[in-house]
Amino acid sequence: MHIVYSDRYQVDIGAHVFPMAKYARVRDELVARGLIDPSALVSPAPAAWDDLALVHSGEYLEKTRSGGFRASELALLELPWSPAVAEAFRLMAGGTIAAARLAVEAGAGLRRQADCAAGAGRPLAAAANLGGGFHHAFPSHGEGFCLYNDIAVAIRVLQRDGTISRAAVVDVDVHQGNGTAFVFDRDPSVFTFSIHQEHNYPHVKPRGSLDVGLPDGTGDREYLLALEGALPDVLAGRPDLIVYVAGADPFLEDQLGGLCLSHDGLRGRDFLALSSSRDAGIPVVIVFAGGYARRIEDTTAIHVATIEEAIRLGA
Ligand SMILES: [Zn+2]
Repeated sequence: MHIVYSDRYQVDIGAHVFPMAKYARVRDELVARGLIDPSALVSPAPAAWDDLALVHSGEYLEKTRSGGFRASELALLELPWSPAVAEAFRLMAGGTIAAARLAVEAGAGLRRQADCAAGAGRPLAAAANLGGGFHHAFPSHGEGFCLYNDIAVAIRVLQRDGTISRAAVVDVDVHQGNGTAFVFDRDPSVFTFSIHQEHNYPHVKPRGSLDVGLPDGTGDREYLLALEGALPDVLAGRPDLIVYVAGADPFLEDQLGGLCLSHDGLRGRDFLALSSSRDAGIPVVIVFAGGYARRIEDTTAIHVATIEEAIRLGA
């Protein structure tokens, strides 16, 4: 499986609940466990401004470039602005674009293999960006630690290039994917699915194609049943690509989440999402989104397990 990563994803945002250090930790853990070869990591280029403009307004992009935000806009964004912060997020958006292209290529490669068995016998076509997943960014404003909506940008870039026609977003972060739902509102070419804690940020939730809002304290069993029930609707539209927004924050010890998934439950979540995509023959690009466990080791382990599940399924 192709994995996109840069040490420059990590940038100084001061004392903050968002653990920027998780990116390098996930990379290091994947290498230490022999799951990836560091020489095979794909180094991304920053997203081109024209690519970002497929989703974001010119006025907003200029603010992200020059730092011309009002204090109220920075309060909503919940990030400090600096040229380095803007560049790190632009690089991560480039990483998601690169990984999305690699996932589609992997899918095409599998289809070319004439002996590829249909159904459960076939391997998963996937690629991952060890970052990204900034689903709270809207076209004209950023919020909730999200400067650029790399998910939406990657889909729009691949559509523009003729690489894909239809896409689906499977967003399992504990927070609803409000920015992504807003971007693709009334666009029949992109199915947005979010399964999240209902009574949590964002308090205004623009409707996606399918939203499953779970009660506080939902545990492994109820969560997995709800996810299993929803996935056939996501796959029914036969998307050319699935963007899997694999937030680590449904974890029971997350500081910003109120669901109660265990490590095993989260691994089961990844297995359900990835194996259903594999069985449907649809390539998947994995991005990380949130994760605010009291111990950063837990957030790291959850992201590592997602990659491990993808590799176990043949990616
Ligand atoms: Zn989140």
